[in-house]
Formats: sequence, structure tokens, C-alpha cells
Amino acid sequence: MKLLCDLSLSELCDFLKRYNQPAFRAKQIFSHIVAGRELDEMSNIPKDLIKRLKDDDVRALGLKVEESFTSAIDGTVKYLYTLTDGNIIEGVLMRYKYGNTLCVSTQVGCAMGCRFCASTLGGLVRNLTAGEILSQVIVANALNTGKDRRGVTNVVLMGSGEPLDNYDNVTKFLNLLSLEEGLNISRRNVSLSTCGLCEKIRRLADEGYTPVLTVSLHAPFDDMRKRIMPVANRYTVSEVIAAAKYYFEKTGRRVIFEYSMIESENDDEKSAEELCRLLKGFSCHVNLIHLNYVKERGLKGADNSAIDKFRKILDNNGISCTVRRSMGSDIEGACGQLRRSYIENKRNK
Ligand code: SF4
Repeated sequence: MKLLCDLSLSELCDFLKRYNQPAFRAKQIFSHIVAGRELDEMSNIPKDLIKRLKDDDVRALGLKVEESFTSAIDGTVKYLYTLTDGNIIEGVLMRYKYGNTLCVSTQVGCAMGCRFCASTLGGLVRNLTAGEILSQVIVANALNTGKDRRGVTNVVLMGSGEPLDNYDNVTKFLNLLSLEEGLNISRRNVSLSTCGLCEKIRRLADEGYTPVLTVSLHAPFDDMRKRIMPVANRYTVSEVIAAAKYYFEKTGRRVIFEYSMIESENDDEKSAEELCRLLKGFSCHVNLIHLNYVKERGLKGADNSAIDKFRKILDNNGISCTVRRSMGSDIEGACGQLRRSYIENKRNK
């Protein structure tokens, strides 16, 4: 199957030459794709061309929305998308005063095995193509654009999958996302979250990509981090921080460290003090996260008083820090939870 959303406008022009189509046709089709339309919905495109494309197994978009769930608490929307091969992925649209942020998935499943995460429970199924990642934004944007609605203004690569484990497709997606003739989402409004693949962090900076880099640290000690994240067997905490510093020096963009607060694991004073020691003098930011309960993992989030104590230690040491509120907790907001319960429900039917 060929997905047109995998192509830039000039690539689409080249592709349509096989069908003897002029450049203006490519422009028409490209704008339909950006508006979230499948081939059958492109009303000003000749029917015989649509038929030939469909006969050749060409599709415009890489997915469709299977179901969506809106939080009664904060208006967060969770989308379940079906890919063209039947795989399911999920995404979340969070509404803030400054705009709408869409969290996208970059892989079906994930190979990284973080203990607090539901996305990795079935391992990695496959990488998403650039167009499949882009389609999540296109479709959510189309559903949220209109009178008094602003569409998608910010994108975070923080859903299922490790973005830097799918490097080529993810960087192509970053290029497509910011195309002026496409969705035109500013590079400044994109964040990429990684569990800390050090060589890829450096490569991203070397190749001139500048998303806000969010590094899932979750522990200041190697032994502790190994218990929470298997990737810690490949990279030490100090290697991860060194790669983050390199990224900051090369791109000038402040790095964010994510720290999920897990009861009786990483929420003690000693951990807070070690984190301060590691980050002293580095112009970065720490997000302390209320862990969403993942039933398959049995990990409990730290309580508010432990989080507050931890935050005060960081504050007192001059480490910029916020406690991240959990959004959409009534609609299985944690990464991978909704997809899993959807697949399980289907299986049990
Ligand atoms: S937290 Fe991210 S990197 Fe870790 S297993 Fe989940 S999806 Fe993969």
C-alpha cells in the first residue's frame, strides 16, 4: 500500500507524474490530505484518477478515528485510531489556554519495557511511517478546526513508542509537520520525549532538529533506574545527562527531565538530593509527574505530601521544577492504557 501522506508536495508531484498529472493536481490533492480527506472525498479530482489510484492500492491517509472519548473533567479527548493494516494506536488532545496540544504515537507498542508503562506490555509491533504519525495530527486537526476552534497548535511525541527508536520516520515527520504548504506547525511548538537513547539525542542535535527535548529520567541512581527502565542497562544516568547537555549546547533549547513519582521507589529525600547534585548548574527543567496507576504493573504513584517534599528540595537547590497535573484520568489517560483495554474488550466479545 502507498500512503500519499508520507510525501511532501514535491514528492507528490513526482509521484503523480506516473499518472500523467500536472503540478496543480498535486497541489489540489495535497491540500485535501492536509484537510483530512480520503481519496473518495476529493470532490474536484477526476473520478478516473481516483479509481486508478485506488486500483494501485494508494490511500491518502494512514489511519481513521475508530473511537474517541472526552474527559468530563477537563475536556481532554482520547482518540483510538485504526491503521490501514488493522493495528490500533492512540493519541490524546489536551486543551490549554494557549492552544491544543496533540500527543502522538510513533510506534505500535514499544520495545523499551519501562515498568510504569502500558504501551510496552506487548512489546514492539512495528514502527509507524512518517505519514502515519502525520495522519494523527491531520485527523485531530480536522476534527477540532472550525468556528471558535483552533485546531492543533502544538504536538508532543509522547504517546506509544520511543521516537528515537524510529529515527528516520520521526525526523521525516518533523519535516512534514512544519511545511508551509502543509500543517505549518512551528518547530518551536513540537516536543519529543525519549527514554534517553544517547547517540540518537546527539544525532538529532547534529542534524539540526530542535524539538523541545524531554528526557524520561525517573531516577537519579543507576540501580534504581535499572529497576524502573531496562534502557538504563545501556546508558548510565550520567551518560543520559551528558547527552542532554550536548543537546542544549547545540540547539539552545532547554531540556526537560520527566520524573514519575513512584511510591517507595524514587520518592525519598535522598533521591531528591542526588537529583539536585546531578542537575546543579544545568539550565534545565524538571517535571514531577503524578503516576497514573497501571494495573498490569502494580506500581502506585507517590502521595501528594511526598511529591511536595521532593519539590521543595528541588526548589531550595534552585532547580526549576513543576508538578505536572494529570489530564484525562477518567478516560485512561496513561500512555497505552486505552489501546490495551480496547483490544482486550474486543478479544472478550
Ligand atoms: S514510557 Fe515510552 S519508551 Fe518507555 S516503554 Fe512506554 S512508550 Fe516505550
